[in-house]
Amino acid sequence: MAERAGSTPFLFAIPRDTAPTPCRGCGRPVYWIRTKNNKAMPVDTRVDGGLEPMRDRDGRGLSHFATCPKADQFRKKKIGAGGRGDAR
Ligand SMILES: [Zn+2]
Repeated sequence: MAERAGSTPFLFAIPRDTAPTPCRGCGRPVYWIRTKNNKAMPVDTRVDGGLEPMRDRDGRGLSHFATCPKADQFRKKKIGAGGRGDAR
C-alpha cells in the first residue's frame, strides 16, 4: 500500500483571494498562482481533490499545464523568427 493518504495527486494551494480566469487554450476557468520559484502557473480546480478558493478559505488544484487539452499551445510560444525552428 502507498503511504500517501488517498489518491490525491500533486495539488497546489490557491490563495483565497484569487479570481478565476478563462484559459486561453480551452476556455476553462483557471486560477493563476505563483509557485515557490515565483513563476506564474494556472491551476485547475475541476479535478479530483480540487477545491475552489473562497473568501475565507484557500483552494487547491492541479497544474493546468497537466490538465489542459491544449497544453501544446503553451509550448509553441515563439519559434523564433528564423524559419527553420521546427525541431522536434
Ligand atoms: Zn486550458
